[in-house]
Amino acid sequence: ARYSKEDILRLVKELDVKFIRLQFTDILGTLKNVAITSEQLEKALDNKCMFDGSSIEGFVRIEESDMYLAPDPNSFAVFPWRPQPGRVARLICDVLNPDGTPFSGDPRYVLKRALKKAADMGYDKFNVGPECEFFLFLTDSEGKPTIKTHDNAGYFDLGPVDLGEDARRNICLALEEMGFEIEASHHEVAPGQHEIDFKYQDALTTADNVMTFKMVVKTMAQRNGLHATFMPKPIFGINGSGMHTNVSLYKDGKNAFYDENDPLKLSQEAYWFIGGIIKHIKAITAITNPLVNSYKRLVPDYEAPVYIAWSARNRSPLIRIPAAKGEATRLELRSPDPSCNPYLAFAVILAAGLDGIKNKIQPPPPTDKNIFRMSREERMKEGIDSLPASLEEAINEMEKSELVRETLGEHILTKYIEAKRKEWEDYRTKITPWEIEHYLTKY
Ligand code: GLU
Ligand code: MG
Ligand code: MG
Repeated sequence: ARYSKEDILRLVKELDVKFIRLQFTDILGTLKNVAITSEQLEKALDNKCMFDGSSIEGFVRIEESDMYLAPDPNSFAVFPWRPQPGRVARLICDVLNPDGTPFSGDPRYVLKRALKKAADMGYDKFNVGPECEFFLFLTDSEGKPTIKTHDNAGYFDLGPVDLGEDARRNICLALEEMGFEIEASHHEVAPGQHEIDFKYQDALTTADNVMTFKMVVKTMAQRNGLHATFMPKPIFGINGSGMHTNVSLYKDGKNAFYDENDPLKLSQEAYWFIGGIIKHIKAITAITNPLVNSYKRLVPDYEAPVYIAWSARNRSPLIRIPAAKGEATRLELRSPDPSCNPYLAFAVILAAGLDGIKNKIQPPPPTDKNIFRMSREERMKEGIDSLPASLEEAINEMEKSELVRETLGEHILTKYIEAKRKEWEDYRTKITPWEIEHYLTKY
């Protein structure tokens, strides 16, 4: 552990922190927080900070709504953009029942439980490195977000075309002040689209980081007069935003995915892990791609995966093996998008991979052709299946899965499906501009 309770109390005094935001993430992946003053901090650090869970999406029934927040001292960070003196800091919390046991509706707990299972199999570390993409849009005269992009730049372009440069710079600086190690930041393929990569960490830290990242990007964009969105496909006809997820498993301090004697330098475990993901991908897609809009990104020709295949060579499949080898050996899962709940997403990805290892699931041979150029018949012949094409399909797949039920637990699974079915129904019954355009005069 980086910090003890005493460290936090001392830091808060030294840094003149007045307000502490106690943060946690709800089932649908939204960051929530309550602010307390520094005077209340000691009590909060003793897990005595109660809040009314009934007001939180999918948390509990009204009758049993008292929940406690248990701050994780290691997550202490000061918001660099807030005024000082009287600074603002945050602590990420676990959610506990009144009796002190972990609350089964807490996504952070779901990930911890999945990591515990990995540890029981001897994998003491599950490292995750996400690549979060997002759009920066202009705001109108009233400060409301538009879907106008602020530039016309493309992949790796630099100023003066790239007007998001200042915003991106400020985002990176703020993240670094909060303890992030920024590896790269660049303009992405689509106009107004950006990517900032931060260093991989163990899955729990990374999930916390993803939540912090999204908050910082949104905050700093707003301070630069722009609106940042992690909506997966805001504009038809150009690339959407993904959250490629690089994963590796460690056993006894060594990367268990690496084997120098294999042609692809992958270990048997890595192959089985791929096998497990391929087997369960349809069932976990409702978690990794949770929105109606997510499925408008998963279409051919925009560098997002559509088909269930893997490759060490090209970028169109679902799973890619990046060129880096040795301790950097990893798998890149390309389907997740940044609207997902990272705690739940990493938990189901891990569970799927571990199931592959446990049951020695051999993956299909790699597909080194461009799958987008293959005909339907060719794909069928090679046994290449597709990801769910809609949120509805994805929920149906998820509902059938014993693995997902076990990983999420009954409480979260039920609430999640309930919320997602409602979202789908709401969307399904709307009349879209496409229908008016195609049908109104023709029929
Ligand atoms: N934006 C693409 C996606 O939707 C990914 C582009 C890339 O390879 O970084 O996944
Ligand atoms: Mg990218
Ligand atoms: Mg990538």
